[in-house]
Amino acid sequence: MIVLKTRTELERMKKACRISAESLNVAEELIRPDITTREIDRAMHDYIVKCGAKPSFLGLYGFPASACISVNDVVIHGIPSDYRLKDGDIVSIDVGACCDGYHGDNAYTFIVGKTSPENEQLLRVTEESLYKGIEQAVIGNRIGDISFAVQSHVTPYGFGIVRQFVGHGVGKALHEDPEVPNFGKPGRGPRLAEGMTIAIEPMITLEGDAVTIDADKWTTRTKSGKAAAHFEHTIAITQDGPVILTVR
Ligand code: MG
Repeated sequence: MIVLKTRTELERMKKACRISAESLNVAEELIRPDITTREIDRAMHDYIVKCGAKPSFLGLYGFPASACISVNDVVIHGIPSDYRLKDGDIVSIDVGACCDGYHGDNAYTFIVGKTSPENEQLLRVTEESLYKGIEQAVIGNRIGDISFAVQSHVTPYGFGIVRQFVGHGVGKALHEDPEVPNFGKPGRGPRLAEGMTIAIEPMITLEGDAVTIDADKWTTRTKSGKAAAHFEHTIAITQDGPVILTVR
């Protein structure tokens, strides 16, 4: 069931989304060679709590941290650890915050120092595809229009689209209906209506769609071993068009 939000609810949801976005700024300031992903998670956790919010991911389905921190070939759900970032790594950080009963969810892939030209292109194209998807998030369109916009932007580059995981509605629960795939056909799927709030989150790889999950049951890697990128915003569908709630 798709839950539509009233204007008042959207105003409340903005706060959770802002805190979620700001916690990515906290991460960005810390990212440098030698810092551990656990230290980044701790700082993000502390920031969210200091703002009077709760980290949405902590304990959700048993996840042991506040942020998913995924390095290089890890697409999503990386568990913060003693791994020390090094120059050239790319690091995807996905985080949610819950405040006044609503969640915000967003992700960004950062570069540690300087990375390869192919990684730079992957990040640029993945972020662009997120905005192509957002452009389609208008009243009267369908979910498939968002999916198709993401897909048709990345495939000419030969990149892979992860199909096993998709975007989602977001609100009082972190994961609500509808599913928002990063692949699909225009004109298909649920129709977009005023008050829908969704997380659009392309997960794109340098090569191939297939992923494997580690023995820890979380860490999701590309089967090819090549790098992956992940960008995400929570957006609201309004009379004035798509509104990005997790602006940084
Ligand atoms: Mg999400």
